[in-house]
Amino acid sequence: MDRRTPLKPGDTAVVLGAGLAGLSAADILSSRGIKVVVLEKSPFTGGLAATRRDGGFHFDYGPHRFHTTNKAILERVRNLVGGDLLELDRLSRIRLLDRYFVYPLNLGDVLSRMPLHRGAAMMASYAAARLRVASGGARDDSFESWVVNRFGRALYDVYFGPYTAKLWGIAPDRLSPDWASQRITVPGLGGLVKETLFPHKEKVRSLVSLFHYPRGGIGRIAEALAARIVSAGGTILTETEPESISRSGAGFSIGTRGGSIEASGIVNTIPVTEYAALLGDMLPGAVLEASRSLRFRAIVFQVLRVARRPDARDHWIYTPESHYGFNRLSIPENFDPGVSESGAQVVFEYTCDAEPGDPVWSGSQGLAEECGAGGVRLGLFQPGEVLGAVPARQTHAYPVYTHGYAEASGALLDALSNLPGSVTCGRQGLFRYNNMDHSIEMGEYAALELLGEGSVKERFDWSADTWADG
Ligand SMILES: Cc1cc2nc3c(=O)[nH]c(=O)nc-3n(C[C@H](O)[C@H](O)[C@H](O)COP(=O)(O)OP(=O)(O)OC[C@H]3O[C@@H](n4cnc5c(N)ncnc54)[C@H](O)[C@@H]3O)c2cc1C
Repeated sequence: MDRRTPLKPGDTAVVLGAGLAGLSAADILSSRGIKVVVLEKSPFTGGLAATRRDGGFHFDYGPHRFHTTNKAILERVRNLVGGDLLELDRLSRIRLLDRYFVYPLNLGDVLSRMPLHRGAAMMASYAAARLRVASGGARDDSFESWVVNRFGRALYDVYFGPYTAKLWGIAPDRLSPDWASQRITVPGLGGLVKETLFPHKEKVRSLVSLFHYPRGGIGRIAEALAARIVSAGGTILTETEPESISRSGAGFSIGTRGGSIEASGIVNTIPVTEYAALLGDMLPGAVLEASRSLRFRAIVFQVLRVARRPDARDHWIYTPESHYGFNRLSIPENFDPGVSESGAQVVFEYTCDAEPGDPVWSGSQGLAEECGAGGVRLGLFQPGEVLGAVPARQTHAYPVYTHGYAEASGALLDALSNLPGSVTCGRQGLFRYNNMDHSIEMGEYAALELLGEGSVKERFDWSADTWADG
């Protein structure tokens, strides 16, 4: 099928992946009379934005705040959850040197809480970095240099460097500066001075503190989309992966363990590297080779059930220092007090490689004990208050932006854009560090693209400032 031959009612489309991007696409397609089959590898829908409720536990896969600048997407989400959206004011802190700092960093807060000598060192190294930038002697050639040029070496050494090394498991100078520019919208100390003295009305995304959260868990958005798809006649096959994809007449034949599906179009939201491998010689050999260099970082959540609500009102807390094995923790009750019916919980996050040899992934590191001790050190609960523990895993949490990723992913996405009848989108499908609202929006545009109504590329707002959250 040529991309210019739009799908029409009665045609079949296969959607790969039942995260928010895939479900959003399938919802639009099924509402327009397309026969939709969604293939999802895991036993549940929602992907990274799912809520797990079992065995007395009730938690999201890490803290998820919904925020969007797109009013239509906000209304779509509000309608999906029947108006049941809580509006919350974010409280997040960073734990450093056994004290708490507000997140995002605030100059007044950092300087008033840091030991005097460290505060002075931060101001001095910030001034030195700005002078180097002004004299033209600074280059943004890695995550490390990008941050040092904007924040100074001392703040980098205390916070950004250790946190980043822990998150990615590699030295920050091996990471592309793109990750910093997409992820960090905290202004430099100069900006912090300005922000402290003359606060802006319109804030960049990571400084926006108000956010939305569906009562009962972030997964309610995906659950509502899935229910709409099924009631419109669509099919969602969980624990089902595409095993092969070949050309079939004007469309595709997608092989699964249950047989093959003939489809006029595909929306892909599974890791683009896996999609490329399935397409095989439909793509140039050099592109396939380049795609093999792209990798994702996995995440393991260690969830502890505790005897009472933790002694912190934070939505989440960052723990960059190496004596905490985890990077961050979140407290579900602080998003929605209703989850306390399942008991108080704390969700600790570890990033790792999804490989049997990785001690975090394999579970050999004793995470529950480590998190128990960490929670006590942070003052969240007392020894003996941990009632139960459960781990949860996601293989593809973060695309890893090592040097060269942009060329490899760019070549792959260019080649895919020339494949008629196929659209790739979402966090995994674009190898892009994006947010829930972006995935929902892109899924919608991917469906419209198959229907012949514009393209994701033209419709989506790709400006860097829109990329910032978890
Ligand atoms: C810890 C964490 C915190 C976050 N916090 C926020 C936040 O506060 N705000 C925000 O807006 N965003 C946040 N995000 C980002 C947000 O979760 C994602 O942008 C969004 O959920 C991605 O949706 P997606 O559909 O594009 O991808 P995914 O959710 O990854 O969906 C892809 C789906 O494909 C499935 N799949 C994979 N391989 C196969 C296969 N071979 N066959 C079939 N199915 C397959 C997966 O199981 C998954 O269901 C956070 C992410 C993480 C990891």
